[in-house]
Amino acid sequence: AASTDDLVAWIRAFRDAVQQHRDELTALDSAIGDADHGSNMARGLDAVVAKLEAPPASAADLFKTVGMTLVSSVGGASGPLYGTFFLRMGPALAEGTDAASLGAALRAGAEGVVARGKAEPGDKTMVDAQLPAVTAWDDAVAAGADAAGAAAAAAEAAAHGRDATEPLVARKGRASYLGERSAGHVDPGAASTALLFQTLSDTLA
Ligand code: ADP
Ligand code: MG
Ligand code: MG
Repeated sequence: AASTDDLVAWIRAFRDAVQQHRDELTALDSAIGDADHGSNMARGLDAVVAKLEAPPASAADLFKTVGMTLVSSVGGASGPLYGTFFLRMGPALAEGTDAASLGAALRAGAEGVVARGKAEPGDKTMVDAQLPAVTAWDDAVAAGADAAGAAAAAAEAAAHGRDATEPLVARKGRASYLGERSAGHVDPGAASTALLFQTLSDTLA
């Protein structure tokens, strides 16, 4: 099972990866949005890491703090949506952090994003990386994988989902204002989601 320290390390690694890829995320958003996804995520995750100086008592507490901090510190669409993802994860982890419980928590997070943002698969959003990732996680666990193996499968699926957004026409968020002109660019939120799952895999490996 993943310890609370492992999960804190994941969130820190996600912050570091977003900082490292900040300009790239912003460039993706400049093509089909308003050029702020990298700075939105970097600002939100810096605020999260500052809050984590007080170590959370449990995984459930950790994700509550992460979610609430993202909702309150990121103005764009991504703040409430990522915030919802983590806020929904927390309660699902109250029972434990084995591979199956983590998978259930990630699924609860992704379903929370769908409920909040109303994006369907293929709408060219972060959902197009999240849903394949949680499905890959569950499939890996069903095949006997531990959390590290499930996370590796999920990271690969998220990256594939990110790449698969490129030809799509956006139907949600700012990119949808461009209509057909949104095709030919990777969705920025799907790109940050691939970092989310890659850093989870790296942390649990
Ligand atoms: P904003 O669009 O407000 O500037 P960001 O640029 O930070 O916010 O985030 C944009 C990303 O948010 C998009 O690339 C997309 O992945 C995601 N997004 C936008 N609207 C939705 C939605 N309704 N459901 C899911 N994801 C969405
Ligand atoms: Mg934007
Ligand atoms: Mg914006």
